[in-house]
Amino acid sequence: MIDPFGRTISYLRVSVTDRCDLRCVYCMSEDMTFVPKAQLLTLEELDRLCSAFVGLGVKKLRLTGGEPLVRKNVLSLVESLGRHLKTGALSELTLTTNGTQLDTAAERLAAAGVKRINVSLDSLDPSRFKAVTRWGDHAKVMDGLRAAKAAGLKVKINVVALRDVNEDEFDEMVAWCGREGFDLVFIETMPMGDIDGDRTSQYLPLSIVRARLGQRWTLESIPDNTGGPARYMRCVETGGRVGFITPMTHNFCESCNRVRLTCTGTLYMCLGQEDAADLRGPLRASESDEKLIAAIREAIARKPKGHDFIIDRRHSRPAVGRHMSVTGG
Ligand code: SAM
Ligand code: SF4
Repeated sequence: MIDPFGRTISYLRVSVTDRCDLRCVYCMSEDMTFVPKAQLLTLEELDRLCSAFVGLGVKKLRLTGGEPLVRKNVLSLVESLGRHLKTGALSELTLTTNGTQLDTAAERLAAAGVKRINVSLDSLDPSRFKAVTRWGDHAKVMDGLRAAKAAGLKVKINVVALRDVNEDEFDEMVAWCGREGFDLVFIETMPMGDIDGDRTSQYLPLSIVRARLGQRWTLESIPDNTGGPARYMRCVETGGRVGFITPMTHNFCESCNRVRLTCTGTLYMCLGQEDAADLRGPLRASESDEKLIAAIREAIARKPKGHDFIIDRRHSRPAVGRHMSVTGG
């Protein structure tokens, strides 16, 4: 699949549910309205859709959400999709999780062929973690991380950089990830969906974070070998990798290789644009995949050049109305 700008689409991210057991302040409001369960694609339908994408050249599949591990029986979907790893059609099957249920899921994920996972953790301090996630239990996530390590999963920690919230912890996080053998990625807040707060006060440009880290750590550039939007550095003192995802200060769209599918079968060709394609209709229209494949190809032909995110005081409304949990981060 090649889009109008010559980018090969080889990466599908699937939000298997928009629901979550946490309410991170930058992601959701406390009182969220979720998609009614009756509108969700079944796990079998999600499998069929993902498999169609794999047939069209998708090599990397990431399950996300909302919180993917709160979807009932999601591990059976992971196990089923694992068959594409065995045939070599898929090179990587992975997920992004808040880690609250990893303690029980880690072993099955590893057995299904998952090698690496991203775990979001915005603070190492239990009370602060609670404040950021509103409902989270830090100890539970730590149990999950221990289980992931024990199962042999490689872990990347995602940290959203939040002004006045966790900005004084970043040195400690570099040290901790170094000791644990985790990669660490800092993310800028993106203006997606209404939250019960002011995003302009949360936004912390990663140029500042990187400059501050440079005062304590020696960060060496390394070639970006993940094909994603993160720019990676090696921390000489810990030996660990530290990445920066800067959608706001650096336009990462030129090399975009991904599209995103929601739990209702809507395909978003760009995280930062409203245009989307319905795949549920063609999926349900027939048992053969012909209509579905035609709809996927037609959607890829409409993939836009990039996003138009802006966070400043003149733009108080989100750039896109849907929350990150709908399309998956
Ligand atoms: N629940 C899982 C988790 O938290 O990892 C997966 C879904 S979550 C939407 C995926 C990632 O998006 C997380 O790392 C989260 O911190 C990030 N995220 C959510 N809302 C965001 C926003 N408005 N700007 C930047 N990152 C955001
Ligand atoms: Fe849930 Fe992930 Fe959003 Fe936090 S960032 S509310 S864990 S979906």
